[in-house]
Amino acid sequence: MSDKETAMSDDHTAPSNFIRQIIDEDIAANKNDGRVVTRFPPEPNGYLHIGHAKSIWLNFGIAEDYHGTCHLRFDDTNPHKENVEFVEAIQNDVRWLGYDWGEHRYFASDYFEQLYDFAVQLIKLGKAYVCELSAEAMREYRGTLTEPGKNSPYRERPVEENLDLFARMRAGEFADGEKVLRAKIDMASPNINLRDPTIYRIRHGVVHHQTGAEWCIYPMYDYTHCLSDMLEGITHSLCTLEFADHRPLYDWFLDTLETPCHPQQIEFSRLSLQYTITSKRKLTALVEDGHVEGWDDPRMPTIAGMRRRGYPPAAIRDFCQRIGVTKSDNSVEMGVLENCVREELNARAPRRMAVLNPLKVVISNYPEGQVESLTVANHPQDESLGSREIPMSREVYIDRADFMEVAPNKKFKRLVAGGEVRLRNSYVIRCDEVIKDGQGEIVELRCSYDPATLGANPEGRKVKGVIHWVSAARGIHAEVRLYDRLFNHPTPDAAKDGEDFTAHLNPESLLTLTQCVLEPALAEAQVGEHYQFEREGYFCKDPATTASGAPIFNRTVTLRDSWAKIEQQAARSG
Ligand code: ATP
Ligand code: MG
Repeated sequence: MSDKETAMSDDHTAPSNFIRQIIDEDIAANKNDGRVVTRFPPEPNGYLHIGHAKSIWLNFGIAEDYHGTCHLRFDDTNPHKENVEFVEAIQNDVRWLGYDWGEHRYFASDYFEQLYDFAVQLIKLGKAYVCELSAEAMREYRGTLTEPGKNSPYRERPVEENLDLFARMRAGEFADGEKVLRAKIDMASPNINLRDPTIYRIRHGVVHHQTGAEWCIYPMYDYTHCLSDMLEGITHSLCTLEFADHRPLYDWFLDTLETPCHPQQIEFSRLSLQYTITSKRKLTALVEDGHVEGWDDPRMPTIAGMRRRGYPPAAIRDFCQRIGVTKSDNSVEMGVLENCVREELNARAPRRMAVLNPLKVVISNYPEGQVESLTVANHPQDESLGSREIPMSREVYIDRADFMEVAPNKKFKRLVAGGEVRLRNSYVIRCDEVIKDGQGEIVELRCSYDPATLGANPEGRKVKGVIHWVSAARGIHAEVRLYDRLFNHPTPDAAKDGEDFTAHLNPESLLTLTQCVLEPALAEAQVGEHYQFEREGYFCKDPATTASGAPIFNRTVTLRDSWAKIEQQAARSG
């Protein structure tokens, strides 16, 4: 490493990658006077997902580390699919992830007038023409990957005629699809993007969320994107690999127009995450066809969904950092993301007790009406998280899974008929009697407690099991939602067009438990806070409540990695 590199990497928090190396070299060569300006350019036609998070982390992170700026630019050239709900949701999500664009929020539509002028300039240079081929004819003329295209019969129109027609396109004299403006490049180019691509099309009757009804012609994405980058003085335009083939077109626009600055495009591989999808079109279909509750359904890989699910933004940033930035396509295991969430939450989520499938336990020798207050630490390691009071009473709930009449095997350390178990942070109880209903289902346990066991195991007593519990008198009732992967297939995104990706939806992705009982301290839980429900996982409060006003808690993630097991099962079943 040169001295300069060492000096620069000092203030980098993120590990290097090939893009940072390019930027380091550019700075060393004093390219762009050493400035670094990046941008995150979403199209406001849907909510952001985990793939976008990677792009946000990359663009904003680089700007931060190199003391540059990162612009938030809405690529809004396709008004009929875009709206302000999406604009607002995107801003919310970027902010929530921990990034700030300051005053640098732009819309490609801010540049419509300038883009129009550039188009006029291209026409004057003899580099653009108005074409009247139908969409179908245009496709035929374009040729294929192996055959060159043919020139449009309108290609040699004189400049004056092109200028007149383009002005009349803008003035609204022609119908949708009647005419387009095309760049005049090379119909025989091996790169199809260079075969006289359309740069303006006519769209009547759409109200653009920013420009209203001002325009009836709209610039195409490829044309708009590179010129917007240029107008904003972007130095490094980072995008996903599929745009590598578009780069020669971007270069052609910038070179032909002899623009004062020429952003450097660098491509990296898209993030794809197993057992979910990151295609906006497919995510939109999930929402519109009612397969999920909405864009922020906690099963969705959207940032809004992950927020509602309880993923902390720091965990998502950490995930982006761990998977790194490369040019090779790969599909990341969901377990990697969940581990980041788990690590983050383990360190800082206060512990609580919650019984998800309650079974009533009456402690016969516990004084009726007595409620003891037990002081319990909020975190096993971190004392700074303080403590809370837990009420102990004659009737408590334990989880049904923590009782069996007869132990199924030696590993079963929980409560059995006639056996003993410790109630976590409380006393040892013994099960004296099992009460069943007419169908033989266990409805209640009669137990007795040993007052000498609070906080200590008297000598000679072998109590191995510790189970969680909640006071029946003081517990609060809640609904708890447990989530599983949204799809049964590791790469549902790979489904070809026409193939129905929804066939891979996991019918058991949501399990709703309506009878849960939580320790009373959880009455104070706020949306956005995280808790570990001991032995059950990490949970957060949902913004919604049940119809009867009871709180709803979402399981963010289980305590241990359950994906390893799923992978093993998948491997076994071939
Ligand atoms: P669309 O098909 O609607 O264009 P898109 O996923 O490309 O979908 P954009 O809003 O255009 O969505 O994306 C904004 C930015 O996020 C782009 O720079 C894009 O390259 C980047 N991006 C999108 N998906 C991913 C992904 N899976 N991994 C990394 N970056 C992504
Ligand atoms: Mg895109």
